[in-house]
Amino acid sequence: MSNSEQTLSIIKPDAVERNLDSEIKLMFKNKGFKIVQEKKIQIEKSEAERFYKVHETKPFYKDLCEYLSSGPIVVMILEKENAVLANRELMGATNPKDAIDGTIRKKYGLSIDKNSVHGSDSLENAKLEIDFFFKD
Ligand code: UDP
Ligand code: MG
Repeated sequence: MSNSEQTLSIIKPDAVERNLDSEIKLMFKNKGFKIVQEKKIQIEKSEAERFYKVHETKPFYKDLCEYLSSGPIVVMILEKENAVLANRELMGATNPKDAIDGTIRKKYGLSIDKNSVHGSDSLENAKLEIDFFFKD
């Protein structure tokens, strides 16, 4: 049964800054993800605040929004069977210290805040996040 999904992935400033975007994109492609759309952009802090609104009450919210808007990011629509879950698996745990071998965050993440990638956490949020960056 085919269950093709789309999810949103972001290569965060710490990874773009280290020129890891090609290697991270290769990890997606090697796992069978198709990169349907992509763009390299830098967002305003106000946009990061909107994007991460779900975390508004968290103690790390302000730093998180400052960080996501601190430099260029690569935003991508990824497509594959069960893409949302498959991407979360390939990304690894939020804290790179807890991420298992073979995951992006294990390989490239620097810390819980500079963890190299974002990925949608549900199909519903994937749709909202894709619209956030690609609806024009
Ligand atoms: N984050 C942080 N400190 C924390 C938890 C999260 O700086 O204690 C940052 C981290 O960059 C993470 C983002 O906030 O990727 C969103 O948190 P979430 O719990 O949604 O983790 P994710 O879905 O990215 O694994
Ligand atoms: Mg999340």
